[in-house]
Amino acid sequence: MSLLAGFLTPWILCLAILILHLVLPARHVEGYVDGPDGKKLRYRLNGMLVFLVCIAGWFALDHFEILRATWLYEERVGSALGAIVMGLVFSFALVLPAPSSGKSFAADFFLGRLKNPQFFSNRVDAKMFLYLFGAAVLGLNLLSFAMHRYQRFGFEPGIALHVGMFFWFLLDYLTFERVHLYTYDIFAENVGFKLGWGCLAFYPYFYAVGLWSVADLEGYSAPTWQLALAAITFFAGWCCARGANMQKFYFKTDPDHVFLGVFKPEVVTDGQRSLLCSGFWGVSRHVNYLGEILMATGLTLALGFITEPWPWLYPLYYVALLVPRQFDDDKRCAEKYGPLWDEYVK
Ligand code: NDP
Repeated sequence: MSLLAGFLTPWILCLAILILHLVLPARHVEGYVDGPDGKKLRYRLNGMLVFLVCIAGWFALDHFEILRATWLYEERVGSALGAIVMGLVFSFALVLPAPSSGKSFAADFFLGRLKNPQFFSNRVDAKMFLYLFGAAVLGLNLLSFAMHRYQRFGFEPGIALHVGMFFWFLLDYLTFERVHLYTYDIFAENVGFKLGWGCLAFYPYFYAVGLWSVADLEGYSAPTWQLALAAITFFAGWCCARGANMQKFYFKTDPDHVFLGVFKPEVVTDGQRSLLCSGFWGVSRHVNYLGEILMATGLTLALGFITEPWPWLYPLYYVALLVPRQFDDDKRCAEKYGPLWDEYVK
Protein backbone atom coordinates (compact mmCIF):
# COMPACT_ATOMS: atom_id res chain seq x y z
CA MET A 1 0.00 0.00 0.00
CA SER A 2 2.76 2.37 1.01
CA LEU A 3 4.79 1.46 -2.09
CA LEU A 4 1.73 2.19 -4.24
CA ALA A 5 1.18 5.54 -2.50
CA GLY A 6 4.82 6.41 -3.13
CA PHE A 7 4.53 5.24 -6.73
CA LEU A 8 1.54 7.51 -7.32
CA THR A 9 3.17 10.56 -5.70
CA PRO A 10 5.08 11.84 -8.79
CA TRP A 11 1.98 11.34 -10.95
CA ILE A 12 -0.12 13.40 -8.54
CA LEU A 13 2.64 16.01 -8.33
CA CYS A 14 2.80 16.12 -12.12
CA LEU A 15 -0.93 16.76 -12.36
CA ALA A 16 -0.76 19.40 -9.61
CA ILE A 17 2.19 21.18 -11.28
CA LEU A 18 0.44 21.08 -14.65
CA ILE A 19 -2.72 22.62 -13.17
CA LEU A 20 -0.69 25.29 -11.37
CA HIS A 21 1.23 26.04 -14.56
CA LEU A 22 -2.06 26.39 -16.45
CA VAL A 23 -3.98 28.52 -13.97
CA LEU A 24 -1.35 30.77 -12.37
CA PRO A 25 -0.54 34.05 -14.11
CA ALA A 26 2.33 33.85 -16.57
CA ARG A 27 4.39 36.15 -18.73
CA HIS A 28 4.23 35.63 -22.47
CA VAL A 29 7.61 35.81 -24.16
CA GLU A 30 9.09 35.26 -27.57
CA GLY A 31 11.61 32.42 -27.77
CA TYR A 32 14.70 31.82 -29.90
CA VAL A 33 13.49 28.97 -32.11
CA ASP A 34 11.07 29.28 -35.00
CA GLY A 35 7.58 27.81 -34.66
CA PRO A 36 5.68 25.92 -37.40
CA ASP A 37 4.42 29.23 -38.89
CA GLY A 38 8.01 30.50 -39.35
CA LYS A 39 7.64 33.11 -36.60
CA LYS A 40 9.49 32.86 -33.28
CA LEU A 41 7.79 30.40 -30.96
CA ARG A 42 6.01 32.01 -28.00
CA TYR A 43 5.99 30.71 -24.43
CA ARG A 44 3.96 31.11 -21.25
CA LEU A 45 6.43 31.17 -18.35
CA ASN A 46 5.52 31.11 -14.65
CA GLY A 47 8.06 28.64 -13.27
CA MET A 48 9.05 30.68 -10.21
CA LEU A 49 5.46 31.14 -9.07
CA VAL A 50 4.60 27.47 -9.58
CA PHE A 51 7.75 26.43 -7.71
CA LEU A 52 7.04 28.69 -4.73
CA VAL A 53 3.41 27.53 -4.53
CA CYS A 54 4.61 23.89 -4.59
CA ILE A 55 7.06 24.46 -1.74
CA ALA A 56 4.52 26.45 0.30
CA GLY A 57 1.86 23.80 -0.41
CA TRP A 58 4.22 21.05 0.80
CA PHE A 59 4.78 22.83 4.11
CA ALA A 60 1.04 23.55 4.41
CA LEU A 61 0.24 19.83 3.98
CA ASP A 62 2.73 19.08 6.75
CA HIS A 63 1.40 21.86 8.99
CA PHE A 64 -2.19 20.60 8.71
CA GLU A 65 -0.95 17.03 9.25
CA ILE A 66 -2.20 15.84 5.87
CA LEU A 67 1.21 14.69 4.64
CA ARG A 68 4.52 14.59 6.48
CA ALA A 69 7.19 16.86 4.97
CA THR A 70 9.52 13.84 5.03
CA TRP A 71 7.10 11.83 2.84
CA LEU A 72 9.32 11.83 -0.23
CA TYR A 73 12.16 10.44 1.86
CA GLU A 74 10.02 7.75 3.49
CA GLU A 75 8.55 6.71 0.13
CA ARG A 76 11.71 7.35 -1.89
CA VAL A 77 11.83 3.96 -3.58
CA GLY A 78 8.16 3.85 -4.61
CA SER A 79 8.25 7.48 -5.65
CA ALA A 80 11.42 7.07 -7.75
CA LEU A 81 9.85 3.98 -9.40
CA GLY A 82 6.69 5.99 -10.12
CA ALA A 83 8.77 8.72 -11.77
CA ILE A 84 10.75 6.18 -13.81
CA VAL A 85 7.55 4.59 -15.15
CA MET A 86 5.91 7.98 -15.72
CA GLY A 87 8.96 9.12 -17.72
CA LEU A 88 8.73 5.98 -19.87
CA VAL A 89 4.98 6.37 -20.45
CA PHE A 90 5.48 10.02 -21.38
CA SER A 91 8.31 9.19 -23.81
CA PHE A 92 6.29 6.49 -25.59
CA ALA A 93 3.17 8.67 -25.66
CA LEU A 94 5.07 11.50 -27.33
CA VAL A 95 7.24 9.51 -29.71
CA LEU A 96 4.88 6.76 -30.97
CA PRO A 97 2.21 8.93 -32.66
CA ALA A 98 4.77 11.32 -34.24
CA PRO A 99 6.09 10.78 -37.78
CA SER A 100 9.41 8.92 -37.98
CA SER A 101 12.54 10.99 -38.53
CA GLY A 102 13.92 8.26 -40.81
CA LYS A 103 16.31 6.96 -38.15
CA SER A 104 15.86 3.67 -36.27
CA PHE A 105 13.04 3.45 -33.73
CA ALA A 106 15.59 3.20 -30.92
CA ALA A 107 17.21 6.48 -32.02
CA ASP A 108 13.81 8.15 -32.43
CA PHE A 109 12.69 6.93 -29.03
CA PHE A 110 15.85 8.12 -27.29
CA LEU A 111 16.22 11.48 -29.04
CA GLY A 112 12.55 12.13 -29.85
CA ARG A 113 10.71 13.01 -33.03
CA LEU A 114 9.07 16.33 -32.15
CA LYS A 115 11.19 19.42 -31.65
CA ASN A 116 9.08 21.85 -29.68
CA PRO A 117 5.63 20.37 -28.98
CA GLN A 118 3.13 22.63 -27.23
CA PHE A 119 -0.22 21.61 -25.73
CA PHE A 120 -3.44 23.14 -24.35
CA SER A 121 -3.72 25.68 -27.18
CA ASN A 122 0.02 26.42 -26.87
CA ARG A 123 -0.31 27.31 -23.18
CA VAL A 124 2.08 24.52 -22.16
CA ASP A 125 5.41 24.04 -23.86
CA ALA A 126 6.55 20.44 -23.31
CA LYS A 127 10.22 21.27 -22.75
CA MET A 128 9.63 24.16 -20.35
CA PHE A 129 7.06 22.13 -18.43
CA LEU A 130 9.46 19.21 -18.14
CA TYR A 131 12.16 21.47 -16.71
CA LEU A 132 9.67 23.02 -14.32
CA PHE A 133 8.50 19.62 -13.06
CA GLY A 134 12.12 18.53 -12.59
CA ALA A 135 13.00 21.66 -10.61
CA ALA A 136 9.90 21.53 -8.38
CA VAL A 137 10.16 17.82 -7.54
CA LEU A 138 13.92 18.05 -6.99
CA GLY A 139 13.22 20.91 -4.55
CA LEU A 140 10.65 18.80 -2.69
CA ASN A 141 12.95 15.76 -2.61
CA LEU A 142 15.80 17.83 -1.18
CA LEU A 143 13.54 19.32 1.49
CA SER A 144 12.15 15.90 2.44
CA PHE A 145 15.57 14.27 2.64
CA ALA A 146 17.07 17.18 4.59
CA MET A 147 14.09 17.27 6.96
CA HIS A 148 14.51 13.56 7.63
CA ARG A 149 18.20 14.02 8.40
CA TYR A 150 17.50 17.02 10.63
CA GLN A 151 14.93 15.02 12.63
CA ARG A 152 17.47 12.22 13.11
CA PHE A 153 20.73 14.10 13.67
CA GLY A 154 19.78 17.73 14.40
CA PHE A 155 21.23 20.76 12.65
CA GLU A 156 24.36 20.18 10.54
CA PRO A 157 25.85 23.22 8.77
CA GLY A 158 27.07 21.30 5.71
CA ILE A 159 23.66 19.78 5.01
CA ALA A 160 22.10 23.25 5.36
CA LEU A 161 24.71 24.69 2.99
CA HIS A 162 24.12 21.88 0.48
CA VAL A 163 20.35 22.45 0.46
CA GLY A 164 20.77 26.24 0.46
CA MET A 165 23.11 26.16 -2.55
CA PHE A 166 20.87 23.68 -4.37
CA PHE A 167 17.93 26.02 -3.85
CA TRP A 168 20.07 28.85 -5.18
CA PHE A 169 20.69 26.70 -8.27
CA LEU A 170 16.95 26.04 -8.73
CA LEU A 171 15.81 29.59 -8.01
CA ASP A 172 18.53 30.90 -10.32
CA TYR A 173 17.21 28.73 -13.14
CA LEU A 174 13.63 29.90 -12.50
CA THR A 175 14.64 33.57 -12.25
CA PHE A 176 16.31 33.29 -15.65
CA GLU A 177 13.82 30.81 -17.12
CA ARG A 178 13.59 32.91 -20.25
CA VAL A 179 17.35 32.72 -20.83
CA HIS A 180 17.00 28.94 -20.95
CA LEU A 181 15.03 29.38 -24.20
CA TYR A 182 18.39 30.18 -25.81
CA THR A 183 20.10 26.93 -24.80
CA TYR A 184 21.05 23.83 -26.74
CA ASP A 185 18.20 21.66 -25.35
CA ILE A 186 15.62 24.07 -26.70
CA PHE A 187 17.06 24.87 -30.12
CA ALA A 188 18.88 21.65 -31.02
CA GLU A 189 17.15 18.72 -29.30
CA ASN A 190 13.85 16.87 -29.76
CA VAL A 191 11.63 15.63 -26.96
CA GLY A 192 12.02 11.90 -26.43
CA PHE A 193 13.32 9.64 -23.70
CA LYS A 194 16.47 11.71 -23.14
CA LEU A 195 14.64 14.93 -22.34
CA GLY A 196 11.29 13.48 -21.21
CA TRP A 197 12.49 10.71 -18.95
CA GLY A 198 15.50 12.86 -18.10
CA CYS A 199 13.35 15.64 -16.63
CA LEU A 200 10.55 13.51 -15.16
CA ALA A 201 12.72 10.90 -13.45
CA PHE A 202 16.45 11.54 -13.67
CA TYR A 203 16.61 15.25 -12.87
CA PRO A 204 14.37 15.28 -9.74
CA TYR A 205 15.70 12.02 -8.27
CA PHE A 206 19.28 11.54 -9.43
CA TYR A 207 20.29 15.16 -8.71
CA ALA A 208 19.43 14.42 -5.08
CA VAL A 209 21.82 11.43 -5.06
CA GLY A 210 24.23 13.15 -2.66
CA LEU A 211 21.71 13.89 0.04
CA TRP A 212 19.79 10.66 -0.57
CA SER A 213 22.91 8.53 -0.17
CA VAL A 214 23.97 10.13 3.12
CA ALA A 215 20.51 10.77 4.60
CA ASP A 216 20.91 8.02 7.21
CA LEU A 217 24.70 7.97 7.48
CA GLU A 218 26.27 8.64 10.86
CA GLY A 219 29.61 10.37 11.32
CA TYR A 220 28.95 13.73 9.69
CA SER A 221 32.07 15.82 9.61
CA ALA A 222 32.72 18.99 7.68
CA PRO A 223 35.34 21.41 9.02
CA THR A 224 34.77 25.09 8.37
CA TRP A 225 37.54 25.25 5.76
CA GLN A 226 35.74 22.56 3.77
CA LEU A 227 32.44 24.43 3.89
CA ALA A 228 34.22 27.63 2.83
CA LEU A 229 35.88 25.77 -0.05
CA ALA A 230 32.52 24.28 -1.01
CA ALA A 231 30.83 27.70 -1.10
CA ILE A 232 33.74 29.32 -3.02
CA THR A 233 33.77 26.50 -5.58
CA PHE A 234 29.99 26.63 -6.01
CA PHE A 235 29.75 30.42 -6.39
CA ALA A 236 32.83 30.62 -8.64
CA GLY A 237 31.08 28.05 -10.83
CA TRP A 238 27.84 30.01 -10.70
CA CYS A 239 29.65 33.19 -11.84
CA CYS A 240 31.14 31.33 -14.84
CA ALA A 241 27.86 29.65 -15.84
CA ARG A 242 25.44 32.50 -15.21
CA GLY A 243 27.88 35.12 -16.50
CA ALA A 244 28.51 33.31 -19.79
CA ASN A 245 24.83 32.46 -20.31
CA MET A 246 23.69 36.02 -19.62
CA GLN A 247 26.37 37.59 -21.80
CA LYS A 248 25.33 35.37 -24.73
CA PHE A 249 21.62 36.01 -24.07
CA TYR A 250 22.13 39.79 -24.23
CA PHE A 251 24.29 39.43 -27.31
CA LYS A 252 21.54 37.47 -29.11
CA THR A 253 18.76 39.85 -28.08
CA ASP A 254 20.66 43.17 -28.23
CA PRO A 255 24.03 42.77 -30.04
CA ASP A 256 25.40 46.15 -28.89
CA HIS A 257 24.71 45.54 -25.20
CA VAL A 258 27.76 46.19 -22.97
CA PHE A 259 27.51 43.28 -20.55
CA LEU A 260 27.62 44.37 -16.88
CA GLY A 261 28.68 47.76 -18.21
CA VAL A 262 32.19 46.31 -18.69
CA PHE A 263 32.36 43.71 -21.46
CA LYS A 264 32.00 45.37 -24.87
CA PRO A 265 30.71 42.89 -27.47
CA GLU A 266 33.85 42.15 -29.50
CA VAL A 267 33.02 39.78 -32.32
CA VAL A 268 34.38 37.80 -35.23
CA THR A 269 32.06 38.32 -38.17
CA ASP A 270 31.58 37.39 -41.83
CA GLY A 271 29.41 40.46 -42.38
CA GLN A 272 26.16 38.59 -41.84
CA ARG A 273 26.68 36.54 -38.71
CA SER A 274 28.76 37.23 -35.62
CA LEU A 275 30.28 35.26 -32.79
CA LEU A 276 31.11 36.82 -29.48
CA CYS A 277 34.76 36.64 -28.42
CA SER A 278 35.02 39.00 -25.46
CA GLY A 279 34.33 38.57 -21.76
CA PHE A 280 33.35 35.04 -20.78
CA TRP A 281 33.31 34.02 -24.44
CA GLY A 282 36.90 35.17 -24.83
CA VAL A 283 38.08 32.81 -22.08
CA SER A 284 37.04 29.48 -23.58
CA ARG A 285 34.37 27.97 -25.81
CA HIS A 286 32.29 26.60 -22.93
CA VAL A 287 33.23 28.35 -19.72
CA ASN A 288 29.58 27.84 -18.70
CA TYR A 289 30.08 24.05 -18.76
CA LEU A 290 33.11 24.42 -16.50
CA GLY A 291 30.89 26.53 -14.23
CA GLU A 292 28.24 23.80 -14.00
CA ILE A 293 30.87 21.20 -13.09
CA LEU A 294 32.32 23.50 -10.40
CA MET A 295 28.85 24.08 -8.94
CA ALA A 296 28.23 20.34 -8.75
CA THR A 297 31.63 19.85 -7.07
CA GLY A 298 30.85 22.58 -4.52
CA LEU A 299 27.52 20.93 -3.70
CA THR A 300 29.20 17.60 -3.09
CA LEU A 301 31.96 19.12 -0.94
CA ALA A 302 29.35 20.84 1.23
CA LEU A 303 27.69 17.56 2.18
CA GLY A 304 30.59 16.68 4.41
CA PHE A 305 30.92 13.00 3.50
CA ILE A 306 33.72 13.50 1.01
CA THR A 307 35.11 9.98 1.29
CA GLU A 308 31.71 8.48 0.39
CA PRO A 309 31.64 7.57 -3.31
CA TRP A 310 27.91 8.06 -4.08
CA PRO A 311 27.72 11.88 -3.75
CA TRP A 312 30.52 12.19 -6.31
CA LEU A 313 28.25 10.64 -8.94
CA TYR A 314 26.63 14.06 -9.28
CA PRO A 315 29.69 16.03 -10.51
CA LEU A 316 30.77 12.99 -12.53
CA TYR A 317 27.41 13.00 -14.27
CA TYR A 318 28.01 16.61 -15.35
CA VAL A 319 31.33 15.66 -16.88
CA ALA A 320 29.62 12.78 -18.71
CA LEU A 321 26.81 15.07 -19.92
CA LEU A 322 28.79 18.14 -20.91
CA VAL A 323 31.95 16.70 -22.49
CA PRO A 324 30.01 14.92 -25.31
CA ARG A 325 27.71 17.93 -25.58
CA GLN A 326 30.70 20.17 -26.18
CA PHE A 327 31.73 17.92 -29.11
CA ASP A 328 28.16 17.86 -30.48
CA ASP A 329 27.82 21.61 -30.18
CA ASP A 330 31.21 22.24 -31.80
CA LYS A 331 30.17 20.02 -34.71
CA ARG A 332 26.85 21.84 -35.04
CA CYS A 333 28.54 25.27 -34.91
CA ALA A 334 31.23 24.23 -37.41
CA GLU A 335 28.45 23.21 -39.85
CA LYS A 336 26.36 26.31 -39.18
CA TYR A 337 29.09 28.96 -39.22
CA GLY A 338 31.72 27.38 -41.54
CA PRO A 339 35.01 29.36 -41.77
CA LEU A 340 33.73 31.89 -39.23
CA TRP A 341 33.71 29.15 -36.60
CA ASP A 342 37.31 28.22 -37.44
CA GLU A 343 38.32 31.84 -37.02
CA TYR A 344 36.46 32.05 -33.71
CA VAL A 345 38.06 28.85 -32.42
CA LYS A 346 41.51 30.26 -33.24
P1 NDP B 1 25.93 27.15 -24.75
O1 NDP B 1 25.30 28.17 -23.90
O2 NDP B 1 27.40 27.15 -24.87
O3 NDP B 1 25.29 27.34 -26.20
C1 NDP B 1 25.87 26.86 -27.36
C2 NDP B 1 25.32 27.67 -28.50
O4 NDP B 1 25.58 29.04 -28.32
C3 NDP B 1 25.92 27.30 -29.84
O5 NDP B 1 25.25 26.21 -30.42
C4 NDP B 1 25.71 28.57 -30.63
O6 NDP B 1 24.33 28.62 -31.00
C5 NDP B 1 25.92 29.64 -29.57
N1 NDP B 1 27.28 30.10 -29.44
C6 NDP B 1 28.38 29.37 -29.14
N2 NDP B 1 29.46 30.16 -29.05
C7 NDP B 1 29.04 31.42 -29.31
C8 NDP B 1 29.70 32.67 -29.37
N3 NDP B 1 30.99 32.79 -29.14
N4 NDP B 1 28.96 33.76 -29.66
C9 NDP B 1 27.63 33.64 -29.89
N5 NDP B 1 26.96 32.50 -29.86
C10 NDP B 1 27.65 31.38 -29.55
O7 NDP B 1 25.52 25.69 -24.33
P2 NDP B 1 24.16 25.04 -23.81
O8 NDP B 1 23.02 25.67 -24.47
O9 NDP B 1 24.38 23.58 -23.94
O10 NDP B 1 24.15 25.36 -22.26
C11 NDP B 1 23.60 26.52 -21.68
C12 NDP B 1 23.66 26.41 -20.16
O11 NDP B 1 22.74 25.45 -19.68
C13 NDP B 1 25.06 26.00 -19.67
O12 NDP B 1 25.37 26.69 -18.51
C14 NDP B 1 24.83 24.53 -19.40
O13 NDP B 1 25.77 24.00 -18.54
C15 NDP B 1 23.43 24.57 -18.83
N6 NDP B 1 22.81 23.26 -18.80
C16 NDP B 1 22.48 22.78 -17.57
C17 NDP B 1 21.91 21.56 -17.44
C18 NDP B 1 21.56 21.07 -16.09
O14 NDP B 1 21.10 19.98 -15.93
N7 NDP B 1 21.78 21.86 -15.05
C19 NDP B 1 21.61 20.71 -18.58
C20 NDP B 1 21.98 21.31 -19.83
C21 NDP B 1 22.56 22.55 -19.91
P3 NDP B 1 23.72 29.61 -32.12
O15 NDP B 1 23.40 28.73 -33.27
O16 NDP B 1 22.51 30.18 -31.50
O17 NDP B 1 24.75 30.64 -32.44
